[in-house]
Amino acid sequence: MKDKKILNGQEIIVNVRNLKIGGNNPKIFIGGPCSVESEKQIMTTAKHLKEIGVDILRGGVFKPRTSPYAFQGLEEEGLKMLRKAGDEFDLPIITELMDEKNLDLMLEYTDIIQIGSRNMYNYPLLKTLGGVDKPVLLKRGMSATIKEWVLAAEYLAAHGNKNIILCERGVRGFDNYTRNMLDLAAVPIMKRETGLPIIVDPSHGTGVKWLIPPMTKSSLAAGADGIMVEVHPNPCEALSDGDQSLTFEEYENLYKECGK
Ligand code: PEP
Ligand code: MN
Repeated sequence: MKDKKILNGQEIIVNVRNLKIGGNNPKIFIGGPCSVESEKQIMTTAKHLKEIGVDILRGGVFKPRTSPYAFQGLEEEGLKMLRKAGDEFDLPIITELMDEKNLDLMLEYTDIIQIGSRNMYNYPLLKTLGGVDKPVLLKRGMSATIKEWVLAAEYLAAHGNKNIILCERGVRGFDNYTRNMLDLAAVPIMKRETGLPIIVDPSHGTGVKWLIPPMTKSSLAAGADGIMVEVHPNPCEALSDGDQSLTFEEYENLYKECGK
């Protein structure tokens, strides 16, 4: 890829507190609800995930919802709840930034900044995050080619931030049996092209709960450095993405099945 300059395939390890992501390091497990909904919900989730052995707690607080009438997230209040849960159970946290105006909040509270699928093409936001000293999880745009995704990562690197974790989350396909089409070939391709660690999100990648375990195992077999799965104390009552969220018990079984 001729316009690539910095991400040249040489292996990059990303440090998040005392976790090392990428290379021969242990695969990381990220879990948590699609959205932070209440202090009780995120605290209970963090407690269970910590007991299971999960590495990082996720939770959306600024939510990119298709409908403007759907739950938009608890914003700053939710971010503080997520931080509190992370501190209480000693888990690094990750949450999505959509708008540069919330960057200072993110820098203060989160350990990893997530750039969601809808913002992979937001070049001003990528340039800004190139200037920060925090790891960025860069999700694949829902219609992004490999080249576009590589160059989105290159934007971050070109502006000074090589602490990038890629996340394959499926692309729009022609079949609505699943929410997206999970592209596992992208795992070895992106590693080879960039050298960056890459994780897979089988929750958004399929949108179907029962597909999460087989696709998690396939992702790890394909060389993914970790996985990110949505987990909720009661998926039927989740304010977003309940259909693709596991219960604590289901997540624990998956964790054990993966030999963790
Ligand atoms: C998410 O992880 O909560 C999310 C909104 O994912 P994506 O950007 O992949 O749709
Ligand atoms: Mn979600």
